[in-house]
Amino acid sequence: MSPIAMTLLLLTGWGFFFLWTFRRRWKLLTIGAPAARFDRIGERIWLTIRFAFGQWRMPRHRLAGVAHIFVFAGAVIMLLRGFIVFGRGYTDNPHFGFWIFDIGAPLGNLYSLLKDVLVFLVLVGLAVFFYYRLIRRLPRMTLNFEGLAILCILTGLMLTDVLYDAGNLAWPGEEASVWEPLGSLVASPLRNASTGVLNFLRHLGFWGHTCLILGFLNYLPYTKQFHEITGIPNVFFQDLDPAGRLEPIEDLEGKAEREETLGIARIEQFSWKSILDMYSCTECGRCTQACPANRSGKLLSPKLFTVDCRDNLYGRTSEFIRGNGEVAKIDLVGEAIDPQVVWACTTCRACEQECPVFISYVDKFVDLRRYLVQEKGEFPNDLQVAFRGLENAGNPWGLPAEDRLAWAEGIDVPLLSDRPDAEYLWWVGCAPSYDDRAKKVSRSFAQLLNLAGVSYAVLGHEESCNGDPARRAGNEFLFQVLAQANVEVLNGYNVKRIITVCPHCYNTLKHEYPDFGGHYEVTHHGDLLAQLIREGKLQPKNRVDVRVVFHDSCYLGRYNDIYDAPRDVLAAVPGVQLVEIEDSRDRGMCCGAGGGQMFKEEEKGDQRVLMLRTEQLLEADPQTIASACPFCMRMLSDGLGMKDREDDVRQLDVAEVLWQSVGDEPAPAATASTS
Ligand code: SF4
Ligand code: SF4
Repeated sequence: MSPIAMTLLLLTGWGFFFLWTFRRRWKLLTIGAPAARFDRIGERIWLTIRFAFGQWRMPRHRLAGVAHIFVFAGAVIMLLRGFIVFGRGYTDNPHFGFWIFDIGAPLGNLYSLLKDVLVFLVLVGLAVFFYYRLIRRLPRMTLNFEGLAILCILTGLMLTDVLYDAGNLAWPGEEASVWEPLGSLVASPLRNASTGVLNFLRHLGFWGHTCLILGFLNYLPYTKQFHEITGIPNVFFQDLDPAGRLEPIEDLEGKAEREETLGIARIEQFSWKSILDMYSCTECGRCTQACPANRSGKLLSPKLFTVDCRDNLYGRTSEFIRGNGEVAKIDLVGEAIDPQVVWACTTCRACEQECPVFISYVDKFVDLRRYLVQEKGEFPNDLQVAFRGLENAGNPWGLPAEDRLAWAEGIDVPLLSDRPDAEYLWWVGCAPSYDDRAKKVSRSFAQLLNLAGVSYAVLGHEESCNGDPARRAGNEFLFQVLAQANVEVLNGYNVKRIITVCPHCYNTLKHEYPDFGGHYEVTHHGDLLAQLIREGKLQPKNRVDVRVVFHDSCYLGRYNDIYDAPRDVLAAVPGVQLVEIEDSRDRGMCCGAGGGQMFKEEEKGDQRVLMLRTEQLLEADPQTIASACPFCMRMLSDGLGMKDREDDVRQLDVAEVLWQSVGDEPAPAATASTS
């Protein structure tokens, strides 16, 4: 077309990109703290193929998801087209495609056909996005000028491409081609146009397309569309550790002595991967739509948290990349992030589950809490009570350790000190030991274990809290003290296999204690009960004629992928009619207790999370709401009480439902009012 014009455009576009735009973003990324994300390369490649190229998470959102798949696939295909267009700037051959992809060559024809089909699908996808932005105005989206500008640029890219092809195909001597269906279709009404008009149209298409590519390349890093470059690496570098494991602060005491920051205070203390997260957010709002804190009217919106962090980072780009020790020490919380945002998170992971580019949140909120708790002493007052109880008595209520086994009165529950050869240690947990309602679950479960002849024992007063509430509330020091002491006790007894009735205990013992030398095979009671039923060691016989809806605990489901076992237990009970609501399994909404929330007042909002969740579950018109977590049980029992439904809807653990069917005496009526 014009080698000189193309050379000038390429030098300007790519030169500006590499010397300014991209260089600044790259340097900003390198200010981040180290993060080890170059392990397990094969697994990373597979996940990238599945979730980045395969867009595996997108169909979860039906129309928008499918539209995004079209646009993404089009963008991948159009990458090559961009280079072909650049190449055609140096030749007058409109069929040029670096020989391999020349139109007429087998691969070139195939590529051309695929490209035309995808250009059409991209236009369909863009129409959907215009519809969402201009007509539906989806609240989860950021409805600003930038979003519309990007859609217009992408539409322009597609239309100029088609115009260029049509101008070429309508040229005298050229024919419509099955390999270029879209271009041929648009070319047909142009066949009678003069060569002057056709020449103008194809030049308009060609140079318009070239300028849009290069302009977009430089605009992209300043917009949410930067994810087109960073999204795939962000999926590749995702955290491959179990979701339930938080990175410990190494050498806590040494750090404190050296006056190094504990937790994260400032934006530049996040890791490079966290900065890549900020670059990669598409602002789709799926995280916020799923967030129980946001749904109940709290200030927390995960999307806005990322956007605010990113704005803080971008706003100080020159300062950071200049370096020279001139970077002002500005705390993120208080300056860019409201403390309520940090304290409203229940650590449920619904946001992480939804995010198409695998942005993490729980680790960031916990890191910010760590700094607020350990360095500044700024945290909700109620947590102080829980921290003190954990420190002094090994449970968040500060109840006497010698009362830990009081729930078992009248039932044969052996102590590990008396039966050190027991196959399982049952780690009872704080709520099942002290909470009046949860103690009834412990009694049912103990009787089930006895009936099935399971070889087990408990620690009694030697057990203390696993530390989860302290850790998720930011008190890493207290967590590590508890974890080390517990591991010492467990390893002292040479414990190998552990049962828990609490998903929080399950998660911490299984995924976090290995960092402190505790390596155990941990089983949740839902799994064990399902197994005992399968083996015929527990045989449900009494009919329990109730309509049951099961509430998934976040730490059981989303964190540990245990969805079926508790349902299997319920389904094995004659008479149980198990019903599901839409927000169940991996889309189940949090009850509001996790992340230390159980021990503090909720942040300001329109509604309590537990009310919202109770209302969702009541939509199934159940007679019983079943759960498999003592925290969830507490919240849902409260929710039923607040809705004045505790007399007609029971809240039972799966062990209690099963005990009604296998035991000789029915389990006690189990609602908040009976506790
Ligand atoms: S973890 Fe749950 S509560 Fe926290 S930001 Fe994500 S969705 Fe919201
Ligand atoms: S964090 Fe993920 S889910 Fe949330 S807005 Fe950004 S890309 Fe969308």
